[in-house]
Amino acid sequence: MPGGPLDVFQHVDGPGEHLARTLELLERYAPWEYGRATAVELTDAHATLAGRYTPTVRDPVGRLPSGGLALGVGDAVVVNDPLTGQGSNSAAKCAASYLASIIERGDEPFDADWMRMAFERYWASARHVTRWTNAMLGSPARHVRSLIAAAGGLQHVADRFANGYDDPADFEDYFFDATKAEAFVAEATAVGVVG
Ligand SMILES: Cc1cc2nc3c(=O)[nH]c(=O)nc-3n(C[C@H](O)[C@H](O)[C@H](O)COP(=O)(O)OP(=O)(O)OC[C@H]3O[C@@H](n4cnc5c(N)ncnc54)[C@H](O)[C@@H]3O)c2cc1C
Repeated sequence: MPGGPLDVFQHVDGPGEHLARTLELLERYAPWEYGRATAVELTDAHATLAGRYTPTVRDPVGRLPSGGLALGVGDAVVVNDPLTGQGSNSAAKCAASYLASIIERGDEPFDADWMRMAFERYWASARHVTRWTNAMLGSPARHVRSLIAAAGGLQHVADRFANGYDDPADFEDYFFDATKAEAFVAEATAVGVVG
């Protein structure tokens, strides 16, 4: 997050300093990993990367200089922060969704209205990725911290959370709302105790 504790890679003086700052962050925030990383070295002088961008959802229909229309796909139309690791699968799911829309269109025109319909069909699932990723970017709410703590001891909670990476639509049913999250953990705890 801009201005956050990990926002330390501006004005870095070369790859060596980039690595040093990375290790400092690791030591401070994930010391259990740092212990395994004290002897690391860069593979080469081009092995570091620093940058930033703002998660964005764009109008899917582009107009070319020739006047023709282009339908945006993947990151070009929906780009999320990388922290949930959703980008590659989302781009593939976008392509699959567009393919289905193209085949169903048959001989009808691939005009702007159709492009927006094709995008909306993809967005019906992609919006869950965006909502969840944006939620993970912020400070976790108390019920989210409880949920993740519960996942440390309850296999069902851990499985459901992990499977959300495959289908983030499921987060709508328990992750965002404190009451639903608490009910889910209480139910999983009861089952876990009985089982
Ligand atoms: C730092 C970082 C970490 C990430 N980590 C993960 C992760 O752990 N897991 C995950 O799933 N995703 C991750 N992503 C996101 C993932 O890389 C992207 O979401 C995914 O690559 C998007 O696929 P795409 O096909 O839409 O676009 P891209 O993979 O960007 O492909 C677009 C292609 O178009 C080409 N191109 C651009 N302009 C032109 C032009 N005018 N003519 C011809 N070709 C052109 C580009 O060279 C590029 O090859 C990460 C992204 C970043 C930046």
